[in-house]
Amino acid sequence: MTENKIFKKQQWSFTLLNFVVFTLIFALFGLIISTIVKNTLYSKTDEELMNFKGRIEQVQNEEREIGVPSSGNGQPRFGEGLFNPRMVTLKWNEDKEIINQEEIGSDIIAYYFQDLIPDFKQLDTIHNITVDTNTYRTLIFKSNNESSETAYIQLLFNVDAEQSIIENFEKILILCTVLALLLSITASYLLARKTMKPIIQSWNRQLDFVENASHELRTPLTIIQNKLEMLLTVPNARIIDKFENIALSLSETRRLSKLTTDLLTLARADSSETQLVKEWFEADDFVKHVCMPYVEIGELDDKKVQLHLHSNMEIEADKSRIHQLLVILLDNALKYTAEGDEIIVSTNVEDQKLVIEVKDTGIGISEESKKHIFERFFREDKVRTREKGGIGLGLSIAQWIVSSHHGTIQVKSNGNKGTIFKIKLPKKQKF
Ligand code: ADP
Repeated sequence: MTENKIFKKQQWSFTLLNFVVFTLIFALFGLIISTIVKNTLYSKTDEELMNFKGRIEQVQNEEREIGVPSSGNGQPRFGEGLFNPRMVTLKWNEDKEIINQEEIGSDIIAYYFQDLIPDFKQLDTIHNITVDTNTYRTLIFKSNNESSETAYIQLLFNVDAEQSIIENFEKILILCTVLALLLSITASYLLARKTMKPIIQSWNRQLDFVENASHELRTPLTIIQNKLEMLLTVPNARIIDKFENIALSLSETRRLSKLTTDLLTLARADSSETQLVKEWFEADDFVKHVCMPYVEIGELDDKKVQLHLHSNMEIEADKSRIHQLLVILLDNALKYTAEGDEIIVSTNVEDQKLVIEVKDTGIGISEESKKHIFERFFREDKVRTREKGGIGLGLSIAQWIVSSHHGTIQVKSNGNKGTIFKIKLPKKQKF
C-alpha cells in the first residue's frame, strides 16, 4: 500500500471514530434530556395518583370502622380537596367487570372504556396505557374493603396534554439530533484531517531525516572502501607511500564517528530520552574555561578570538550541554572565518537572563539561508562545508540544547561582515 493510501485509510478511520463518539454523546444527551422532561411532566400526575390512592384507602378504612355499607365504598367525597376532573376511578370485581358504571356514566364507559383490559399483574405501579386515542397514567391496586364487591380499583389520569408535549418535544429532539449528526460528519472529517496533519508532517520529516542520514553515511563509507581496496591492490607498498590514502580514510572515519554521535544525540532528543543534569555555576568562568583552547587554536590560524565576559551571573543549567553548545558555535565560527578575521565571545545580562553572543567577521549567512539554518542537514554550500568537515547537524543540536533549557537562539548579521549567534538562557531552570 502506498503512503498516501495508508494516510487516507487512517484519516477515514479517525473520521469514523470521531463520528461514532459524537453520535454516542448526542444519543446520550437526547436520552437524558427526554427522560428528564418525561419525569418532570409526569411527576405531578404521579403524585396526584398516589394521593388519590391514599385518600381512597383512608375513606375505605373509615367506612369499615363505622360500618358504612359497601355501596359507597372508597370514593372520596367532593369538596375534600381530592376531586380532579382529569381523574377517572374504575372499580373492578373478581370477574374483571366494571361495577361502578352508573357512578361514572354508562355512556362514558361504553364510549371510552369498552375495550379496556386492565393488567392486574402491574399492581401498585404507575404506568401509561392508551385507550382508544387517549393516553392515561394509571394505577391499579387491590381494594381493602373485603365486604364490598370491589376487588380492584383503577385510577386513570388523562395525560393527553402531557403526551402531546412529549411527542412534540421528541420530534424536535429527533430533528435536532439529525441536524447535529449531519454537522458531526463534517466536524469529524475536519477533525480527522487536523489530527492527521502533524502525523504526516512528522512522518515526512522522519523520512527526510533517514534519507539524509543514509546519504551522509554512505559517502564516507564509499571513500573508505575505495581507499582500502586500492591499498589491497599493492600489498607490498610502504605506509609512507600510501600515506594520503590512509590519512583520508582516517579523516572519513572521524567524520563517520562524529556523524553517528550527532545522529544519536538528535534521536535521543526526539524521544525525550536525554535528561538534563542541572547544577549552579558561574557563567563567565565557565564560558572562559570552554573558550580558552579556541583562543590558542585561533592564534595558530591567525584568527583573533576575544572574550568579553560581563554577565557576573550564576545560572542553573546542564554544564556538559552548555559546553557542547559553545563548542558547536566556536567550531562554526572558526570554520567559516578566514585568516585575519575576528571572533568575539561575550556575555551579559538582559531581562534577568544570561546572554551569550558568538560574533565573527567571517563569510556570513545569506538572509534566505538564515531561515533554514537550524534545520537538520542544512548547509549553505554543501561542497564547501563538506570540505570543512560540516555535516549540517551542529546548529540543530544547538537549538535543541537551548530550547531544552527554555532559552532562545537567534542568528543575525554582524554588520556587513560575518555572523552573530545570540543565546538567551533563563537564570533558573524549571526542569
Ligand atoms: P555544519 O556541520 O555544516 O557546520 P551546522 O548545523 O553547524 O552544520 O551549520 C549549518 C550551516 O550553517 C553551515 O553549513 C554553514 O553554512 C552555516 N553556518 C553556521 N555557522 C556559521 C557561521 N558562523 N558563519 C557562516 N555560516 C555559518
